[in-house]
Formats: sequence, structure tokens, C-alpha cells
Amino acid sequence: MSQSLAGIPAAPGIAVGPVYLLRWEVPEVRYRIITDEQIPREMARLHEAIERAKARLNQVRERAERHAGADEAAIFDVQASMLEDRELVGAAEAYIHQNLGAEKAFDLVMLDWRRHFAGASAPMLRERVGDLTDLHIRVLSILLGLPDHDPVDLPKGSGAILVTHDLTPSLTVQLDREAIVGIATDAGTRTSHVAILARSLGLPAVVGLRDITSRLEGGERLILDGSAGLIVVDPSNEEVEEYRDRALREIQEQDELRTLAHVEAVSVDGVRITIRANVDLPDEAEAAANSGAEGVGLMRTEFLVVGRATMPDEDEQYRAYRRVVEAFEGRPVVIRTFDIGGDKLPVGGFPTEANPFLGWRAIRMCLDQPEIFKTQLRALLRAAVHGDVRIMLPLIVTRDEVQQARTLLNEAVEELARRGAEFRADVALGVMVETPAAALSADTLARDVSFFSIGTNDLEQYTPAVDRGNANLAARFTALHPAVLQLIRRTVDVANEYGLDVAVCGEMASQPLMAFALLGLGVRNLSVSPRGVPLMKRIVRAVRIDEAAKAALAALDAPTAALAEMELRRVLSAALAQSAPVRDGLLGGG
Ligand code: PEP
Ligand code: MG
Repeated sequence: MSQSLAGIPAAPGIAVGPVYLLRWEVPEVRYRIITDEQIPREMARLHEAIERAKARLNQVRERAERHAGADEAAIFDVQASMLEDRELVGAAEAYIHQNLGAEKAFDLVMLDWRRHFAGASAPMLRERVGDLTDLHIRVLSILLGLPDHDPVDLPKGSGAILVTHDLTPSLTVQLDREAIVGIATDAGTRTSHVAILARSLGLPAVVGLRDITSRLEGGERLILDGSAGLIVVDPSNEEVEEYRDRALREIQEQDELRTLAHVEAVSVDGVRITIRANVDLPDEAEAAANSGAEGVGLMRTEFLVVGRATMPDEDEQYRAYRRVVEAFEGRPVVIRTFDIGGDKLPVGGFPTEANPFLGWRAIRMCLDQPEIFKTQLRALLRAAVHGDVRIMLPLIVTRDEVQQARTLLNEAVEELARRGAEFRADVALGVMVETPAAALSADTLARDVSFFSIGTNDLEQYTPAVDRGNANLAARFTALHPAVLQLIRRTVDVANEYGLDVAVCGEMASQPLMAFALLGLGVRNLSVSPRGVPLMKRIVRAVRIDEAAKAALAALDAPTAALAEMELRRVLSAALAQSAPVRDGLLGGG
């Protein structure tokens, strides 16, 4: 009998394949007291495990280098060199001398080191926590005789569905699109970075399944429906057929929508809407440009850093930004400065701060690390020579932050000028409005910037205090909370008053019902996943903005998100029913 598990739809598409279960968690280790006579043997076990881990890292690095590149694979060299650290190995030896078994000795040292690194103030040191966690898991697995596997072990064409607790950076760089056809995780929500990355890679994904890793053994056949957020374990042949048909229909729908890629997004009552794409990886640039997007509304640059041993230097960043800018041939490309920290600092699932979402992240970290920030700004100013680059600052909460960023931008200009580099100095600077503080001080911020982009993923988490990555809170995470709608409305009004561009680049813009609400709130510029560009054009061409405005007003007045949704759904369904062929599911779950 098949069994269905419901999670959160994170990346669309349907995959059928065997489970590749990856348990990448620090195993439990019990205290084992040894006699003095056993000390030499435990010492030998420790050293042998470390040597085996190093050999394994070498193997993993070689394979990751082949399909992810040398820079990305360097993370494994860093990990191997950590295992050669005399202080680290010496500390484990000392515990063995105090009559502890090798696995507990290593466990205690790693816990101590991870805690120590997590408290470091330099981001590159804190980033090493992820590597220490990986080593902790790897060496203990060897010492405890647990299966030692990595995603790179999957042969190409194996068509497997990767099932794991969460994706750590070192797992991410090993992902081979030719071996894996889908991803399912215990953790995460629609807007967590696993989900965003899966969408970028075009891999169907279901996240927030809570305990799927403990329900499966590996090897079972699965259907993964990334559009509905469903997993079917051990499906019957009929069920597989049914899903294969559905997958085919989805592909046909996509093809139909693709014919809309190059039409303009104009509403029935003649309002022109700009649809841009969110680009997370430089590799996606060409496909995004062909999707019919009128530019990039958000490029998330932190994916250049995730899983890396060192920060990318100015030239490497310049090449990455230039690739995206050139793909868009003069259309606007909004590039966001590093939004590292929170859920985005690659720390291997180990929280480095008690409250990472309220912590030292994004613009806060960049302003405190001017060399990291200015390197990025110089790369952006150089890439701007090749097109229309606009620089966007994340997580702004005060005007001071914008002014300090502007000072550093001016310094970056001077540095490039002194060097005689080719660059553009007149690059537009804008901010993300993704906190209630930014939305409520929009009129102060408006004096210093050229555009706003509303980050609804964070606005939705900071306004009602609902962690966007917590699967247990997924039902409470909604953009239709009356307070969120009011903050969006306020931001749009201020932008209009000051004559600034205002876009929405959070996931809200990619969901038809939510996008309809945004149009009604006065938003005229949406940035959506590349795959969502034709769909959004289809929606815009089916609706009247005056009706959207009325529905949004009713949603704003609604006392609850559920009532707001009902009102919006009623008006949008009616509009879609009157327009060209409507397919089931266009509205999705909202
Ligand atoms: C947002 O917060 O809405 C946003 C677009 O940024 P991110 O999802 O990267 O935090
Ligand atoms: Mg954000």
C-alpha cells in the first residue's frame, strides 16, 4: 500500500525514482571508558579514522571539482587541512589519555571547537563551523562503522530522489543534476534557501516534511510532486502512470505558457506591468533572459559564497555579474549586495547566534566588514560597464545604513578611478523593504535611494514574528496578514509620492493570487522565478487592475488572512474564467 506524505511545495515538477537517503547529522555517541592498556589501540583507531576521512575528502573533492568547479571543491581541501591541525588532533589524544574511547574523545573536541568558532566575530571563521560539522559527522561515522556516503557517490543517470534533513553547503556543491531528479527534506519552507536553490537548479522539491528521513530506509520508490508538495511512498504502478500523465500535462502547460514569453504584460484595462526575473546563480542567466523577463529584479549574490572556502575575489565576482548583465542586453539588472547571515551563512545547520534572523547579517555584516563589501561594490561598478546595473541593499532598517553604504560606494569609485579601471560611477542605489522598520520609515529612506524592492519573504516573517524556515509554522506564514498588506500599501504610496520605482521580489510576486493582491495594492513591477514569467504575463493579461484594486481594498479591510484570501480568490477566479483557456491549477493553492 502506498503512503502519502504532505510537505511544502518548494520547486515545481514531478519526479519518480528511488530514494537516496542521506543521513547527514552528528550521530549520538555514548561515553565509553577504556583501561590504560586499551589506550594505544584507541589512539590507533583515532588516527586511522582521520586518515580514512582525509582519503575520502580527497575523493569527494576530485568528483565535486569535475561537476561543480575547482573553487567550489576547495571547501574539501580546507576540511582536510583541519584534520591535520595538531591542536585539534592533540586535544582528542588528550581525552584518550584520560581513558575515553576514541569516538567520545573526538566528539567532545568537535563540540568544543564548533562552539568556539560559532562565537567568533569574523564571518569567515564562523563559516568554518559548517566544515567542522561536516568533519564531526564524517569521522564519527567511520569510528562508529556507520554508512559513509555522499551525494557524489550517485552514478549519473541514477534518477534518484535525494532525501535528507537539510542541505548543508558541502552537500549542495556535490549535487549533480545528472544523478538527482528531485529533493525532499525534513526542514525548510517555500522561502528557505534549499527551496530557492532547487528552483534555480530546476529540480522538483518538497521541503518541510518534518520526519521523512526517519520514515524511510533508502531505496523505496517515490513519487515527488513539487507543485503540490506531496510525496507518495511505494506507489502502485497505476499511481506512477497517473503522475507521469500529470507531469506531461505540466510540461504541455509550460509550453503553452512559453508562447506568452514575448508578449507584453498589459492588463485588460490597459495597465502595463513590468515582469522581471529573480536570478540566484549566474548559470541561470541565459534561461532567465529567454523566459521573457524584462530584466532581473533580484540577483541573490550570496550563492556565490555558499559552500566556498574563501570569499570570491573582485575579478571572480565581476565575471559572474557581467555574465548576467550581458545575458540581459541592456535591460535593468538589480543586483543585491551580500545577504549573508541568518539562514544564509553557510554554517552546516549549526546556529552561530541565538537569534540568527535578528542577528549580525546582510547589510549589518557588510558595513562592519568594509573590505568584503567594497570588493563586491567594485565588481558591481565594473560589471555596470556592460549594461544597466542597479545596486540593492538588503535588510535596511535605518537611513544611516544607506548613508554609510553610499560612503563606501563612493570609496569604491575612488579606488577604481585610482587604479585606472573601467567602470561606471552613476549606478542607481536602492533598498529592499523587508522589515516593518523599513516600511514604516519608507519616507525617510526615500530621500537617499532611487528605488524600493519589497522583500515579502522577510516582511512576512518579521511582521507577524513567524520564522520563515520553520516547517511547523508554515500555515501561519502568509503575506495576506492584514499588517503585511498595510506595510506593502504604505511602501507603494511613499514610492509613488517620491517618484521612485517600487517592485516586489519576494515569492509573493510569483504566486497568482498574491500577485493579484499586489497589483491591487498599486505594485506595477513584479520580479518572479524565471519559470514564472510567462505565467505572470498570463495572469496580468487576464485581469482588470481596477477590479484588483477593489479586491485588495477588501483584503486590507478583512480581519483575517483567510477572509482576505477568500475575497481575492473570488474576484480572480471570475476574471480567469472569462479569459482565454484556463487550466486547472493555475491559481494553485494561493
Ligand atoms: C525577501 O526577503 O523577500 C527576499 C526576496 O529576499 P530573500 O528571500 O533572499 O531573503
Ligand atoms: Mg530577504
